[in-house]
Amino acid sequence: MAIHSSIFISGSVGRGGKNQAADVSTVQTRLNELMGNARTALKVDGLSGSKTQGMIADFQKSVLKFNWPDSRVDPNGKTIQALNDPKSATTWRSVPPASGGGTAKKTLHLHFRSISLTDVSFDTQFRAAVKVYAQYNITVVMKSGKSVWLSEADRKKFKRVDTSCVVGNDEWSVLQKLLNDVPSSDICVFFVGRLWDPKEKPGDEMFLGCGAHRPGAPACAVAANGSKYDMAHEVGHVLGLGHDGTNGNLMHPTQASYPKLPVLSPAQLATVRKSPLCR
Ligand SMILES: [Zn+2]
Repeated sequence: MAIHSSIFISGSVGRGGKNQAADVSTVQTRLNELMGNARTALKVDGLSGSKTQGMIADFQKSVLKFNWPDSRVDPNGKTIQALNDPKSATTWRSVPPASGGGTAKKTLHLHFRSISLTDVSFDTQFRAAVKVYAQYNITVVMKSGKSVWLSEADRKKFKRVDTSCVVGNDEWSVLQKLLNDVPSSDICVFFVGRLWDPKEKPGDEMFLGCGAHRPGAPACAVAANGSKYDMAHEVGHVLGLGHDGTNGNLMHPTQASYPKLPVLSPAQLATVRKSPLCR
């Protein structure tokens, strides 16, 4: 979107600013014009509250690369210059919202059902998922966790869960029907031994997880050979995300490509935040 006019404020806006209502409204309107879909638009009310100040800080951090944003726009400062630079919209939209950066806090409610121990411990995977989503002001909460006792026959049957990772009558679907006892507003995360696509040769366990689930029963599977960010990735599928080949993206199809904390693109984040499971 092209910005054709420069904004002007008579006094400072934001933390510790003069915050005259007309100036605050001017800044709120411009922030809304620049932010794109991944951020939640500010109410243009002329009040310099925590959301407006948080959004100024997000802009300063994302666009001006301030390490210590002061959450304030001064009449002749760097921040207003950037607010009047049409290129700032592109820059800002390419950076996901900072934690607490003016976006409403949301929560994911997860329940864990384990029929197998995993190579990467539950604790490590859970902490990793918490960190990934915390980048976007989304809290991951463990609502319940159970190690599930299976009958001897079921234990043998589900030692390797056969699935093509589509909803149907495969073993993964049977397992969900059997063990998913959580509310439809929450996500049931299963830990299983191996997942095996019958189209593959035995021993070629390609799936490290699967996010396919029955309608109205959100669930995903994490295989024992999954990596540190596997849980966070599979939960991403349940929240409506497909794969993304960008290096460092949480939804990259091969887990080995995560050098550090994986990220979501602004478009992916918008999808996640719109999911009824993210509330
Ligand atoms: Zn995947």
